[in-house]
Amino acid sequence: MTEPHLSLRGLNGWYGESHVLHGVDLEVPEGETVTLIGRNGAGKTTTLRAITGLLKRRTGEIRLHGRELIGLPAYAAARAGIAYVPEERGIFAALTVKENLTLPPVLAEGGMSLTEIYRLFPNLEERASSPGTKLSGGEQQMLAMARVLRNGARLLLLDEPTEGLAPVVVQRIGEVLKALKAAGMTILLVEQNFRFARRLADRFYVMEHGRIVDQVTTRDAGVRIASLQSYLGV
Ligand code: ATP
Repeated sequence: MTEPHLSLRGLNGWYGESHVLHGVDLEVPEGETVTLIGRNGAGKTTTLRAITGLLKRRTGEIRLHGRELIGLPAYAAARAGIAYVPEERGIFAALTVKENLTLPPVLAEGGMSLTEIYRLFPNLEERASSPGTKLSGGEQQMLAMARVLRNGARLLLLDEPTEGLAPVVVQRIGEVLKALKAAGMTILLVEQNFRFARRLADRFYVMEHGRIVDQVTTRDAGVRIASLQSYLGV
């Protein structure tokens, strides 16, 4: 059997003395889109931060194609091909769209060229000389995604990319993620918008109180919608 792109085993994580992740087990097979759902405070963002190494205090296993990442600093995870788009997006507000996309050391081996980025996000080309501060929420989200694609990452971690965005923008982000998936990208998505996630995800993991409490493939999701929605508290 081939190694999953990402696998978490018995992952524990802490903020200071506060124990937040309690033995998280999760697998993201190569090329799949996996969605992590759960109520506010369940530990979804913390899981992404633990994978990237931004959460310093963590134990257990985090394997990327079988290679252990625990103990390595955050830049090593980035260099190993993990891209993280946080909920707050992390773009440079004072710089233009084009500067955000071209500022060194953004371009890396295997990264998308500006032409490819603009093909995927035509609105970013139109806004190339606008400063980050003048972008709409949707444009900021797309810019944040475009920046990490310049890095040549093959595993994309996205934290609630649709939060606060208009339906037409949500749809556009869904199309972009589908295109990335078709190009072979592996995606781990934290999402509260179940309708959106259902169109993209191959499987769902449900998180509660820092633990994975259920796993559902999209094939089952139809019959189990009610239980998934109850996890989300909707
Ligand atoms: P949300 O959708 O609200 O972001 P989440 O599932 O992503 O929810 P986390 O943000 O991972 O949840 O939070 C998990 C727990 O860790 C919560 O109890 C939260 O209060 C706590 N927590 C989050 N960030 C910190 C921090 N910087 N310091 C201390 N505790 C934190």
